[in-house]
Amino acid sequence: MLHTSFIEIDRTAFKKNLQFIRKQVGEHPVISSVVKGNAYGHGIEQMVGIAENYGIRHFSTFSTDEAFRVFNTSTKKSQIMIMGMIDDESLPWIIDNGIGFYVFDFDRLSAAVKVAKQLGKRARIHVEIETGFHRTGFEWEEREDLLAAIEQNKGCLELQGLCTHYAGAESVANYVRVKAQIANYLEYKKWFNEHGISFRCYHSACSAASLSYPETIMDMVRIGIALYGFWPSQETYMANFKQLDADMKNPLKRLISWKSCIMSIKNVKMGSFIGYGNSYMAPRNLTIALIPIGYCHGFSRNLSNLGKVLIHGKILPVVGTVTMNAISVDITDLSKPKKGDEVVIIGKQKNNEITVASFSESIQQVNYELLTRLPADIPRKVKP
Ligand SMILES: *Cc1c(COP(=O)(O)O)cnc(C)c1O
Repeated sequence: MLHTSFIEIDRTAFKKNLQFIRKQVGEHPVISSVVKGNAYGHGIEQMVGIAENYGIRHFSTFSTDEAFRVFNTSTKKSQIMIMGMIDDESLPWIIDNGIGFYVFDFDRLSAAVKVAKQLGKRARIHVEIETGFHRTGFEWEEREDLLAAIEQNKGCLELQGLCTHYAGAESVANYVRVKAQIANYLEYKKWFNEHGISFRCYHSACSAASLSYPETIMDMVRIGIALYGFWPSQETYMANFKQLDADMKNPLKRLISWKSCIMSIKNVKMGSFIGYGNSYMAPRNLTIALIPIGYCHGFSRNLSNLGKVLIHGKILPVVGTVTMNAISVDITDLSKPKKGDEVVIIGKQKNNEITVASFSESIQQVNYELLTRLPADIPRKVKP
């Protein structure tokens, strides 16, 4: 093993998550697999292969670099949609290759029109409207100018989508705001229709909206976190709990495991301090294993004296501070530990499991953040 740890991806978990989402959203909508943030840490190349294998033909990214990776990996000519950053230099590549992209201001619209004319191709645009998220999107007050710009350039635009994003559909605290957004979206949509403009695909729902606000499910849903096997929040899970089948109370399955191995073993006398500083003093004679993962690999320094790993199926504590490249784990209670033994940082071993949530809750990170912080250079292996 060239690297000090690896990430394992379980494709059958993806299949189950997809089946669950399909059941929730019904037969009609396209499911776009959101693969921004290196596919939520899972690896874009690995996830595109898995998703296409189970029938996904639409991917959403934040930026051009991610779209480029999807494009180069896809073997099924899947549709790609960029929801965020594009610089003008990338537009020719994007339009030439039929990549869809969000248009949320007049600058981008005119840049797209210009490049589309030069190439003699149509730009596949998704018009993003402001409904209350207040990040990007055309304001209601801009509708007349937007309509005029679209009509004037109809020949070089393919009106792929009309879209918006909700400001926190994973929490009931945002209920009023999200409901207002839904109403605003529908009003904008109606206005376009009344003025003779229709879009191929209406889409607004992320995982949380799909699960908690069924009316947001339209022609396409953009699903990230749920396809990776996580509820957007504990609250979304609770809200859905009653309607879940009795024998399938957690239909979402984690794809990811993170594994390393014991690098070395050392005996430490009672009363000695372990690692930097004096945050941990051995309360008895201890056996310590050094594991070659540290904060540079995404194992947060906040997990000093708090983190847990699995070795020989036992949950064992991190002792002392998390360093850049390594952690120390108390393995005194193992019977025959040896160098090279498997260490599970996230995942199952025998009858025990360390979930991403347990891991992230102990340091108040949400699943999304922990996953996307897993460095891209840790190898990702898809379980055969
Ligand atoms: C990230 C993102 C999604 C997917 O969100 P999940 O909560 O992971 O399902 C959908 N739409 C937009 C615009 C996004 O940025």
